[in-house]
Amino acid sequence: MGELSSIERAAVERASAEPMLDQVLAWSAVNSGSRNLAGLERMADLLADAFSALPGVLRLDQPQPVETVDAAGRTAKIKHGRHLHLTVRPTAPLQLLFTGHMDTVFGPDHPFQQTRWLEDGVLNGPGVADMKGGLAVMLAALKAIERSKGADRIGYEVIVNSDEEVGSLASAALLTRAAQGKRAAFTYEPAALADGTLAGARPGSGNFSFVVKGRSAHAGRNPEDGRNALVAASELALRLAMSKTPGLSVNPAKIDGGGPSNVVPDLAILRVNMRPRTTDDQEIAGRLIAKAVDETAKQHEVYIEVHGGFGRPPKPLTEEAEALFRLVREAGADLGQQIAWQPTGGVCDGNNIAACGIPVVDTMGVRGGKIHSDEEYLITNSLGERAALSALTVLRLAREGA
Ligand SMILES: [Zn+2]
Repeated sequence: MGELSSIERAAVERASAEPMLDQVLAWSAVNSGSRNLAGLERMADLLADAFSALPGVLRLDQPQPVETVDAAGRTAKIKHGRHLHLTVRPTAPLQLLFTGHMDTVFGPDHPFQQTRWLEDGVLNGPGVADMKGGLAVMLAALKAIERSKGADRIGYEVIVNSDEEVGSLASAALLTRAAQGKRAAFTYEPAALADGTLAGARPGSGNFSFVVKGRSAHAGRNPEDGRNALVAASELALRLAMSKTPGLSVNPAKIDGGGPSNVVPDLAILRVNMRPRTTDDQEIAGRLIAKAVDETAKQHEVYIEVHGGFGRPPKPLTEEAEALFRLVREAGADLGQQIAWQPTGGVCDGNNIAACGIPVVDTMGVRGGKIHSDEEYLITNSLGERAALSALTVLRLAREGA
């Protein structure tokens, strides 16, 4: 270990000694797929119980209403689980935000439901790395900090949302509110690489549903009276696909619609994902969409509704963010851990927090890999390592502001 004060050393030891593996095993046994409301409710209760070891005011916040567009072009409300929200010492001089998610990508009907040991120290299971392990790390670090001298100077909010894996639309407003006025934020996604490398810059991401409404007619008798929604949707898909640039990826993913072959189809729904690298690219994308929709609608005499938007704004690496990464790297070095960071193509709640102008390191969780697959694994030694890293980083932030 490098230069640690006695307070820091004690906190680091306490953090790594927390019963994180037991928590990961217990939490991974509960299915909390983003659409499994009963499972999420159980998970929220377990987490509320565990996080009640911390002081402050703990609530389970109601999800924001979210709309979806079905394959028939109708909008419907989707239900989400509640979000854990803890507020500790809101008037302390240093204010931080800690976030994570309780949902996983594995629904109750997915075959991947149980943990098993792949080898000594390597645990396979749903959500062990993404991110039930990360939640255990966050809690361990916060518990250790609470027992440290100087904890009274550190205030924070914890948000553990229930819908991160489906875009955080039901928790975006809560995250944005919680980010306000914070000095820094930490999100407990697993490290970008199994060696502990953090994710730096991230692109943004937007999901769009274009509901194209034409006019049906008989394909043989009076096709000229029809306005083919499927053809218009295809044209729109091509226009959008061709507008991609090095800073903007465009993926037309699905078209619903059409019917019997003797009828001009009057309805089609096109789904597109777009990933702008920077905020400028996102603005350009917005204009491209408006233009493509307008021109396609005119050319094919159809009506096009646009649903969705850029739910994850781009997360460039700002100077403030880089300074926070350096602080984490130095804390790591003093713990004998080599911490690097690199850009990644993925998106997460770190995007939304960064968009509020708050520096965020969003991969403070465990080391592991193969997330979103049934080969997902957690390197269990990393629980202690990463809890120590978080605890020390937070104590250093507090010292910096003292
Ligand atoms: Zn995750």
